[in-house]
Parts: sequence; C-alpha cells; structure tokens
Amino acid sequence: MVKLASEKGIYRITLPTPFLVGPVNVYIIKGDTLTLVDTGPGTDEAWAVLKKELTSLGIDPEDIEQVIITHHHPDHTGMVHKFFRKARILGHWKNEPWLQKDQHFLAEVRSFFQSLSRTAGVPDVLTEKIIQNQAAYQKYISTASLTYRLNNGDSVPGLPGWRSYEVPGHAQSHIILYEEQTGIIIGGDHLLAHISSNAIIEAPYNNKDSRPRTLLQYRESLLLCTELPVSMVYPGHGDSFDKPHALIEKRLNEQNNRAEYIYHMIKDNPGKTAFAVSKELFPRVYQKQPDLTLSEVIGHLDLLLVHGRIKEDCFGDQIIYSNYE
Ligand SMILES: [Zn+2]
Repeated sequence: MVKLASEKGIYRITLPTPFLVGPVNVYIIKGDTLTLVDTGPGTDEAWAVLKKELTSLGIDPEDIEQVIITHHHPDHTGMVHKFFRKARILGHWKNEPWLQKDQHFLAEVRSFFQSLSRTAGVPDVLTEKIIQNQAAYQKYISTASLTYRLNNGDSVPGLPGWRSYEVPGHAQSHIILYEEQTGIIIGGDHLLAHISSNAIIEAPYNNKDSRPRTLLQYRESLLLCTELPVSMVYPGHGDSFDKPHALIEKRLNEQNNRAEYIYHMIKDNPGKTAFAVSKELFPRVYQKQPDLTLSEVIGHLDLLLVHGRIKEDCFGDQIIYSNYE
C-alpha cells in the first residue's frame, strides 16, 4: 500500500493478476464517501492481498461505500461482486453487458470476431484461439451490475471536485477520474508509463453500427488529456507519473512510426491481408497472441486508411490492403 496525495486521502494498493500484464493497481479515496477505484481480478490471491491492505488502512471490505470501475477488463472488475451488495457500483454504461454476462451480447461479440477474422485472413485454428482466449478472460469478470452510470464530464457522486471523462480506445467502456483542484488523474489503462496501452478491437455495442476504429479513438482520447491541466497520473499498472504531455507525444509518435513501417511492408508487397501483416510484424507472437497482434495491426491500418496512404479492396471474403502511389 502506498499513500499518494495525503490531502486527498488517496492510497494505491497493488494486487497480483494471472494475466501477462502483471500486477494491477487499485485505489482507495478516503473522501466524503469511502471509494475503491477498480477491484483487481477475481482470484483468491488478489482478494487475500486486498483484504490485508484494506485492514492496514483500518478498512473492512464492508465499509467500502462505492466502487468506481475505470473499464470492464477483468483485472479491473473481477471482484466487483464482493462489494455489490453493500456498495454502489459506478462506471460507464458500456461495462454493463460484460458485468451482467449478457448472453445475447456475448454471442454477438463472438460472431463479430468470427467475421472479422474471416475478412482479415486469419486461419480457422487461430480464430478459434481468439474466441477461446476471450471466453477464458471473461471468466475473471464479476457477475454484477452498475448502480450509477458515469458519463463524459459528470461530477462523481460522493467525491466533490472529481469528474469522469470518457476515454474510449483501450476499452470502449473506459473513463478516467480527474480531480480539478489538484490535477490528479486516476487513469486505469488509458496511459501507462512503462508499456504502451493496446487499443483493443471490440465489437460494436449495437450490431447495426460498424466496428469502432479503436486506435483512432485512442489517439483522440490521448489528446483530451493534453487539454486538462494534469499534475499526476495514477495508472492501472506501474508507477505514478507526472508530465503526461511528453509521454502522450511519445506514444503518438510510436504509433506514427509503426504505421509508417506497415506502410512500407504493404508498398513492398501490395495486396496483403491484416493477418499477413501481423505475421510479418510479429513473427514470434502472432500465434501466441492472435487477438492482441491483430488489434495492433488493424488499428494501424485504420490510421493509414484515414491518412489516405493505403486503400482496401475485397478479395473473395477477405480485405486486402495496397498502397496509393
Ligand atoms: Zn485494460
């Protein structure tokens, strides 16, 4: 447990996760309302550490009055159910179908990924792996429900001076919490210092809509943070950091450079599918992490498309990419 901003009563608790990303940070705000931001994954190990750390702060889990969720990923929402009966649960409405394990929604998500994989040229065996990975991941999300929905610019109930802002990109459900007086952000996975946050491909929430262009959204959400006077960012993974402007510029540049690299791969050998790019760009991990590598590639192809650098054509049931001269 680390005491962060004493005048605001913010404490960081770091919990183990079974995921590649490593430990996750959750935050206690001893404000007007005793608040927990994110919960950690739904594992016995994380629950034991969380209980112990809360005890060292003189808090019983039953004392928590509200839980705020930064986004729906299981390392952040896996223990919501432990607080669901006593505390109110706040978050963006797009957390809801994940928390409720809405079977209709999850079936739509599966069929979205089947069709995305087909057009991206992913072999069936890896498509199956993507679907299985997602199902395994969903097991770590709590079954619960929101009791209060936070939208863009909303004041956070029980925490005077705090506002929520929508930052879609890493997840469609993502919000950050911003304290106006101090410029503190509790940022979930929106911006991390030690690793770049993946703009993960998601199905649209309404199957009549087209898929969200997650990397483009993410870049816009990064720019939102440059408009706020920010003093410190308390992230979902890794250490806190100040001066996020420089980090945001670094991330945007890294994305531009990767897009440029992909552009040259396509220019050298036009007519590639997204999967062919993924194989060439990530030869060692495209099979182990087909979902993340495909997200990364499709996001950067979207960037090249909006910049008018490449075009897409149908080839059978696949989409292939070529450069503009
Ligand atoms: Zn996440």
